[in-house]
Amino acid sequence: MKITEVKTYNLKYPLVEPFANSRGWSKARSAGVVEIRTDTGITGWGEGLSIPSQSMADTHLIGKNPFDVELIWDAVCQQGSGNIAAISAVDIALWDIMGKALDLPVYRLLGGAFRDRIPAYASGLFKKDKPDITEALMDEAKRYVDAGFPAVKMKIGFGEAYDVKNVAAVRQAIGDSILLAVDANCGYDVGTAIDVGRKIAGNDLFWYEEPITTDDVEGYVEIRHALKIRIAGGEGLRGRWAFRDLIQKRGLDIVQPDISIAGGFTECRKIAAMASANYVRILPHMWGSSIRLAATLHWQATIPDSPKALNPIPSLFEFDMTENRLRTDLAKAPVRAVDGFVPVPQEPGLGIEIDREVLERYAV
Ligand SMILES: [Mg+2]
Repeated sequence: MKITEVKTYNLKYPLVEPFANSRGWSKARSAGVVEIRTDTGITGWGEGLSIPSQSMADTHLIGKNPFDVELIWDAVCQQGSGNIAAISAVDIALWDIMGKALDLPVYRLLGGAFRDRIPAYASGLFKKDKPDITEALMDEAKRYVDAGFPAVKMKIGFGEAYDVKNVAAVRQAIGDSILLAVDANCGYDVGTAIDVGRKIAGNDLFWYEEPITTDDVEGYVEIRHALKIRIAGGEGLRGRWAFRDLIQKRGLDIVQPDISIAGGFTECRKIAAMASANYVRILPHMWGSSIRLAATLHWQATIPDSPKALNPIPSLFEFDMTENRLRTDLAKAPVRAVDGFVPVPQEPGLGIEIDREVLERYAV
C-alpha cells in the first residue's frame, strides 16, 4: 500500500456566542484537517493544531507505506524538532488508514480497549458576556449535572475575586458528589497561582489545571508542593521531550497531552508509557473537531486504570460542551455523551465518516 495524495483543509466555524478563557475571547473555532489517500482507495483523516506543508507531503509521505508510522514520524521530527503539530494530523490519518485496511478499530491496533465507554466531564463554564455571570455559570453547571455528567470543569484565571466567588458558586450549584476541576489556561504567575489556589482549595477540587505557563517545570514543582490540590497540565506540549522533565520532576499529578498537538497516536503512547513509569496519571486533553474527538477516544480507551482498584479513579474524558459545528456536524454520526459516558467508536479506523458537504462549508 502506498500514499498517493495528501490534501489539507483549514476549517473555521464562527461562534454565535463568543466566550473567554483567562487568555482572551474566542469568536470562532478552527481545525486543521488532513486527508491522506492511498493506491488501495482507502482514505484516512487526521486533525492537528497545524497541517502538513506541501514539502512535508512530497518529501515524507507520497509513495510511503502508511503502516510505517514510526519511520514517517522519525523522518519528520527528530528529538523534538520539526512540526510535531502537523505530524500529529498525519499520524492520526495513518492510523485511520491502518484500521480501515485491517477492518479493525484503532483501539484494537493499539492493544485493546480497557473500557468501551468513558466517563466524561463536561468541559465548559467559560466567561461570557452576561449581566450576571455567576448565575449563568450556576445554571450551566446544573444542566451538566442534570444531563448525567459525573464531573465538570470550569474556567478560572480571571483574578482572585472572580475565581473565589464563582468556584464556590459552581460547587454549590452541583452539590457535593460531582467532581469539579478548574482550568486557569496559564493565566497566572507562580505566586498568584498559589495564592488563588489556597483560596479556592476548600471547594473540594479534583484538579487545578494550567495555573501557570505550560513549560515552567520549576514553577509547577513549587505550586505542587505549596497546594493540597492535584495539579494538571501539558495540553500544549509537543513531543515526548517536552513532557520529560514535567513528568520526571513531578511537576504534575495529571498529564494532559493533546493527540493533535503532542504527536498523534505514535507519540502519545510513548508519553503515556513515560507517565506510567513515573506513576503519573494521564488524562488526555480534547478540544477540536469530530476527528480529534474520535482519535482521543480510541487512545484514552487503551490507557489502563492506575492504580488498578475495585473502584478505580475514573479515567475522565474531556467532553467539550461549547458550541462547535466542527465537532457536532463534521462526522455523519457524531459521537455524543450519553448519561455521562462517551462510547468508543467501534467501526474500522477512527470509526467516523466525514461529511464532505460540512467539510467544504467550513473550509477557508
Ligand atoms: Mg485546559
